[in-house]
Amino acid sequence: MIHTRIQHYLKFLCIISLGLLPSQALATLNVVTSLPEYEALVKEIVGWCSPLCGKRDEITITSLGRGTEDLHFVNPKPSYIRTLNNADVLIQNGAGVEEGWLPPLIAVSKNPKLVPRFDSSTRIMAAQFVDMLQVPPATKADRSEGHIHLLGNPHFHLSPTNAVLIVEGLTEKFCFLEPDLCPTFTRNFHSFKQRIEKKLLVWQKQMKPLQNINVIEYHRTFAYLAESFGFNLVVGDELEPKPGIPPSATHIRKLIPRINTMNVKLILIEPFHERKTPTFVAQRTPAKVVVIPSTVGGVPRTDDYISLIDTIVSRLVAAYTSR
Ligand SMILES: [Zn+2]
Repeated sequence: MIHTRIQHYLKFLCIISLGLLPSQALATLNVVTSLPEYEALVKEIVGWCSPLCGKRDEITITSLGRGTEDLHFVNPKPSYIRTLNNADVLIQNGAGVEEGWLPPLIAVSKNPKLVPRFDSSTRIMAAQFVDMLQVPPATKADRSEGHIHLLGNPHFHLSPTNAVLIVEGLTEKFCFLEPDLCPTFTRNFHSFKQRIEKKLLVWQKQMKPLQNINVIEYHRTFAYLAESFGFNLVVGDELEPKPGIPPSATHIRKLIPRINTMNVKLILIEPFHERKTPTFVAQRTPAKVVVIPSTVGGVPRTDDYISLIDTIVSRLVAAYTSR
């Protein structure tokens, strides 16, 4: 009788242990990204769902910011502290994008892996893998140019070529962190690179009608997109007087005649921007307002990087051709 009870007890313990195993034994690398574009790019490297499907528990990926948020002003939830505390690696944009919300969360998380170090493989800034546009001269890097683009334009992920460079750089870091999976990571990087190169030709063909047209934006978000696809973003004539400074009546009054003179065709705004100012401007100029997402998850059907650019391109082409 006693023997049977011990057997039952051991069986019970065994079931409990097995129940705990999947998440504890297999979660070898806990990746946290500041923003959803990096969550999407890490998924390309890891191969969710192919060909690493079925091994998902070996690597967890969590983004703090959401696609519907302005990446300069992500709402810092208390739960992010625990997420950062449990992180094995943090991937962030860098170049000042997260300055307003991420450093205090990292400080409170007290995770030694997230202490910034030169060439760190556990706190990685994507900015190190690309060349930045609109970098102010050293003498002008002050807040007179706005308070959130002090180091240059940080929205570099919107260049598909930059996305490849970022994935290549991250793949090298992941190979260092998980050497056994390096062949898979490398294969997935090459697959991503090939898909982007193929899509780039399609996107450039779709964007041909927009070559050299004048376009303005709400915030200086789309410089890298304009460079990739050949439309002309009029820098310095955004709806924001400076990056991060909300539009003022004086600024808009001066901007409207300039838009008319420059024959601006489109005004690019992001889903989280207020609509009152762009609508006001569009009613007084021939320019048409188009809402385009700046990151993965910003609008429906932008679940990964390629579908994000697909959506941006199709919205731009549709807005321009339907004017
Ligand atoms: Zn910005």
